[in-house]
Amino acid sequence: MMKKVALHNLGCKVNAYETEAMQEMLEREGYEIVPFREGADIYIINTCTVTNIADRKSRQMLHRARKMNPDAIVVAAGCYVQAQENENHTLDSCIDIVIGNNKKQDLISILNEYEAKREADKEVIDINHTKEYENLSLSRTGEHTRAYIKVQDGCNQFCSYCIIPFARGRVRSRSLEDVVREVTALAENGYKEVVLTGIHLSSYGIDLNGEDAAGKTGLLELILAVHGIEGIERIRLGSLEPRIITEEFAKTIASLPKMCPHFHLSLQSGCDATLKRMNRRYTSSEYYQKCELLRKYFDNPALTTDVIVGFPGETEEEFEQSRAFVDKVNFYETHIFKYSRREGTRAAVMDNQVPEQIKTLRSNRLIKLGREKQEKYEKSLVGKTVEVLVEEPAVIDGRERQVGHTKEYVRIALDAEENLQNQIVKVQIDSHSQIIH
Ligand code: SF4
Repeated sequence: MMKKVALHNLGCKVNAYETEAMQEMLEREGYEIVPFREGADIYIINTCTVTNIADRKSRQMLHRARKMNPDAIVVAAGCYVQAQENENHTLDSCIDIVIGNNKKQDLISILNEYEAKREADKEVIDINHTKEYENLSLSRTGEHTRAYIKVQDGCNQFCSYCIIPFARGRVRSRSLEDVVREVTALAENGYKEVVLTGIHLSSYGIDLNGEDAAGKTGLLELILAVHGIEGIERIRLGSLEPRIITEEFAKTIASLPKMCPHFHLSLQSGCDATLKRMNRRYTSSEYYQKCELLRKYFDNPALTTDVIVGFPGETEEEFEQSRAFVDKVNFYETHIFKYSRREGTRAAVMDNQVPEQIKTLRSNRLIKLGREKQEKYEKSLVGKTVEVLVEEPAVIDGRERQVGHTKEYVRIALDAEENLQNQIVKVQIDSHSQIIH
């Protein structure tokens, strides 16, 4: 009988990508993928540890899986189980197999092996970091128009608040040929848009270039290679480190017609003293120059960012500097996070932790500012003609509409009855109400 598998993903786009890739591997092997609630023989939870809430959700899902079917094989993968390597004992009763971040490509063989000796004790697979890039490959995703391609894993930056370098290990990049092969397969399957993602995308290639390697492989070379793939019409980038935006980088990508003018540059704080404590490697003025470079080479690009409020030691003045900086840049989207203490990081033991009520007040102020800026950016598009890649039909205000994103990643509803899915259409934005969230 066909084995039923349910997968549940927590956390970032990289995790979502990996869950999709695991699902695809399972389907290829003849497993039947079922919804979580239906009851499965195998549950796979791809966990996340980016905040304490993510930790809690990861634990909850593992418990829930065990409850759904006490005889199921419960597989815990991802960052939470990796970061909590020595502290998973409270979860012992609900997990059968732990798979570290570098072992997911072996999922099928691990499952087969486990089943073969199921009566034996619970098996914990080696979760040590390996140097090689995990070779998960994906030729289609759940969405039908946009595919997320993970090109890099790990991070060497050690921002003082972040557990990821410990949880996911050092930078490992996929070879350029491998990425091109995967994107070509996606294009053949009809995908028009590709999003290059990674844990620290800007580090792509640093592990591939030996001291005296003849050719240099970096993010720019990767973008150029993907740009040459027939059928792909849009390239979007995941989160970028500001320092990668040099004059040459901005100028080169601006000359590529498939490049989307939508850039996510993680800011985290607009105050230099806070940035220093965070171990971010730029100042607010360097960051600003990078935004200006993008604005020099792209016409009205959509710049998006993340900001942390209430980082240890953030005084009222420091927060004010951060707020004023966010105000000055005019982002299209600003994602606000209240600082969350991660055990094992330097920031967790810093003095002057900020009380929750203050974090909430600061967060609310920035959320409000972010919304005003978003509206300002959206209104700057009114009267312009944009290209929308249609994703799906949707009923909005009782009417059937076609919904998709512009190259700037602004979501637009079109008045069209025919199904335009996966087509790129030119539309003039006549009013702000055509933009939906
Ligand atoms: S750059 Fe900093 S925040 Fe981003 S993954 Fe690396 S250590 Fe974490």
